[in-house]
Amino acid sequence: MSPNPELRRTKILATLGPATDAPGVLEAVLAAGVNVVRLNFSHGTAEHHRIRANAVRELATKFGREIGILADLGGPKIRVEKFANQKVQLKSGQSFVLDCRVDAPPGDETRVGCSYLGLPQDVRVGDTLLLDDGLIALEVLSVEGQEIHTRAITDGPLSDRKGLNRLGGGLSLGALTDKDRADIRTAAELGVDFIAISFCRSAADIEEARTLARAAGSNAQMVAKIERAEAITNLREIVDASEVVMVARGDLGVEIGDAELPGLQKTIIREAVERGRVVITATQMLQSMVDNPIPTRAEVLDVANSVIDGTDAVMLSAESASGAWPQKAIEAMARICLGAERQFKTVADFGSAQEHLAHVDQAIAMGAMFLAEHIKVRAIIALTESGGTARYLSRFRSAVPIFGLSRHVAARRRMSMMRDVHPVDFDSGDLSPRKAARAAVEKLFSLGLLAVGDRVVITAGDHMQQHGSTNTLRLLRVGEGGVAEGLGKL
Ligand code: PGA
Ligand code: MN
Repeated sequence: MSPNPELRRTKILATLGPATDAPGVLEAVLAAGVNVVRLNFSHGTAEHHRIRANAVRELATKFGREIGILADLGGPKIRVEKFANQKVQLKSGQSFVLDCRVDAPPGDETRVGCSYLGLPQDVRVGDTLLLDDGLIALEVLSVEGQEIHTRAITDGPLSDRKGLNRLGGGLSLGALTDKDRADIRTAAELGVDFIAISFCRSAADIEEARTLARAAGSNAQMVAKIERAEAITNLREIVDASEVVMVARGDLGVEIGDAELPGLQKTIIREAVERGRVVITATQMLQSMVDNPIPTRAEVLDVANSVIDGTDAVMLSAESASGAWPQKAIEAMARICLGAERQFKTVADFGSAQEHLAHVDQAIAMGAMFLAEHIKVRAIIALTESGGTARYLSRFRSAVPIFGLSRHVAARRRMSMMRDVHPVDFDSGDLSPRKAARAAVEKLFSLGLLAVGDRVVITAGDHMQQHGSTNTLRLLRVGEGGVAEGLGKL
């Protein structure tokens, strides 16, 4: 007997929203395999997020599974203000004014207000401004005081509060708004596991968010959303400053142009994995499933290709938050990930791992992975306090499953985002390292995750109560009744 063959390596992150608020939907969606949920602070009130977070925690307990929670800050997204009649129709060639005064009146066919009053200082004549994710393009003709005079380059509808980007990026707005600061406090109260910083430009933006989160009592990991041109310029320092990186293809595609996206996705994933960071691929992965119960073939290929690129997690936005088929979207994700994992087996990459070897626990992880790849083992078991060893193991992208055993719920939820890592609740108490390893094997056997005859590699520390103390490696075999035994011959 082998452990559950359906052990999916790639993690699924699903955004919650009105669609998952409908009775029974959240439960069905989580049961379909969601590993982490996203609370999108661009929409909804603190109270909405609190209700959703509590519901997720309750269901995770009911299922006996770890489900992480990510709070995604709205960030300084520039938007047009409202129109007198909610919506106008723009025609190619017509003139249109962005009115950046505080008291701009409701918009009409000729003009509309803008949430960023500094915009006239940031734009130049000839710039292209993109609205509503690029659906509408405006060319800047002149700047007159607080008014930006433009000409529409495309036809199309423009409605209340649509986003605005500049082609090529460079709008000088800071990363954290006052609302973001308040939302960080809310996120801290909700005990979220991850906080995502939208439109970050530099390592300093991540540090600032982390400082605010720590001051509010949150130990959440920082997720850097790579979605503006400056973040690409500063990619290395941003990756180093954060624990998790998101390829935020929606805004990134608008700022840099869609033709650059495939290359950037691969670069960001490679940088993140090489530097031991967790990486999420996001936006429009199954977009057509907002309306339809099955994905397009192009979407199937997109999800599969991001798995092959080596992403830790794939994300759903409107598909799960406001679409008509949230559960089917999760099922499609799970199915496509499993298919891609089965068809494109990877082998551990030791080359780049050697270059980044700096700590004992990293060395042990590398040794464990080398053994796992070179002798037949069923799994690697990491007895971990913080999830750190599991993260080192995960970065090899080996097909050998990694069971991350921790007594800390925060560590287990962090591991819920890592590729190849399956978090398990386990407390080694005051057992000696030798006995703890055996107890871990028995626990996994009792959960049906290991079978008699399976061989495992176990990493642990002499002093399990310390972070970063992993310094031992054991090779054991599952004997009759799940009792761990040593093995002589390989
Ligand atoms: P958003 O971020 O969904 O919050 O805009 C993701 C993206 O831009 O791709
Ligand atoms: Mn975005």
